[in-house]
Amino acid sequence: MKIKLFPKIYCGQIAYIKIYLDWSLSIMFFLITLGMATSIFPSWHPEWSIWTLWILSALAALFFILSILVHELSHALVGRGKNIEVKNITLFVFGGVAQLEHEPHTWQAELWMAFAGPIASIILGVIILIISILTMDLDYIKTVDSVHVLESLSPSTTLLFWLGPINIFLGLFNLIPGFPMDGGRVLRAVLWGITYDIRRATFWAYRVGQVCAGLFMGIGIATILNFPIIPFLGTGLIGGLWFIFIGWFLYRSAQISYDQLLELLAQEAFASLPAYQKVFIKIIQFLKSHKHPNLGCGK
Ligand SMILES: [Zn+2]
Repeated sequence: MKIKLFPKIYCGQIAYIKIYLDWSLSIMFFLITLGMATSIFPSWHPEWSIWTLWILSALAALFFILSILVHELSHALVGRGKNIEVKNITLFVFGGVAQLEHEPHTWQAELWMAFAGPIASIILGVIILIISILTMDLDYIKTVDSVHVLESLSPSTTLLFWLGPINIFLGLFNLIPGFPMDGGRVLRAVLWGITYDIRRATFWAYRVGQVCAGLFMGIGIATILNFPIIPFLGTGLIGGLWFIFIGWFLYRSAQISYDQLLELLAQEAFASLPAYQKVFIKIIQFLKSHKHPNLGCGK
């Protein structure tokens, strides 16, 4: 998926895959740190000092970004196993983008590559959650009133106890069938497997993706208008705007991905033509691009 991003910072390679940070990632870092330090952690730990709150919140944002990197690397490494090389991974405000050398050639490769990220996030989340439970002093917790259980956790356990479920949520969220999200790619692979037609499969996945994008924007507007559609996400302007931005981004991404596929298919079809037909098409394209007045097919 090629999306024009703002200038990005190269920060090294993992398994020969270049990792870039887009400047917009700082918005994600800032919003998570702010949300954790002013809302989530104070409600769990009213006794924490201001320093503990902000340091833990910044760490939470950092670990969340690393979790996204693990998710993207899983796509990339499974892709490599299926002969789809990933040139680079860019982390940005809405998550991560892995830039593929080419589209998968089979629906099975697409399916496994799409599933790899969410499965990795869910497994990572479960492991972190288990570690957080193992680090709890369960004998002490049993003696604590249930309202004060979270308060009794140490800072590191609190961080892990947040990071585990958030990774599971990240995995499940990405399985929403809004192409080009992972769930949408799974849907496309399944449709591709049924129809043996990547163009039709992409078209329907893209349509479902646009419906999902519309739903995201609808949820955003309802959230701004204080309708608690998703109760645990609350209401308000910031949360609502976030959903609208995600919806808009998905809508545009679905359109771009579909257009890119059409272009790619056209190029492949062109490459397979005999030489004289290629020359003929090139001449037509040249004349059309120069809006030749005598050519009847100019639009
Ligand atoms: Zn993914």
